[in-house]
Amino acid sequence: MSNVEKKERIPSCIGQKPLEGSYYASECTLCGWVGSSEALTDDCQCTQEVGDRYCLGDTDEIGTDRLLEIVQAMARRHVESQQAHQRLIEHTNETEKYLDDAAELLGEIVQSGQAYRECTDKGSATGLRVAAVLGYVAQFQPEAHQP
Ligand SMILES: [Zn+2]
Repeated sequence: MSNVEKKERIPSCIGQKPLEGSYYASECTLCGWVGSSEALTDDCQCTQEVGDRYCLGDTDEIGTDRLLEIVQAMARRHVESQQAHQRLIEHTNETEKYLDDAAELLGEIVQSGQAYRECTDKGSATGLRVAAVLGYVAQFQPEAHQP
């Protein structure tokens, strides 16, 4: 594994045992678990549970440089997930706005008894609003596959 790949890698699981006595920080080369060597077998193999057995992967002692890389990678991941969450909220707000608009429009059409023809006529105000809503909805429809 290259140094860059390792830098980006966040442990699959972090053991919660505090580091005590002569135990050291260790990382499993198989499943990516990181924690105190106190949790390892006598042969320093990983005891992370994989299904109904232990991982038993080989482990490496890791130092503060690798621990700092992990903290930095987790901090980046945290910022990215916050940004993604923010985009999702903005997207949801926009969708709600269009849904409100569509509901209001439907209400107006029903009340006024306007003909369907007017809804498809882009020369009318109602037709333009219908086209805007349809255009927005079309973004979320799966693209037709080319034969
Ligand atoms: Zn493991």
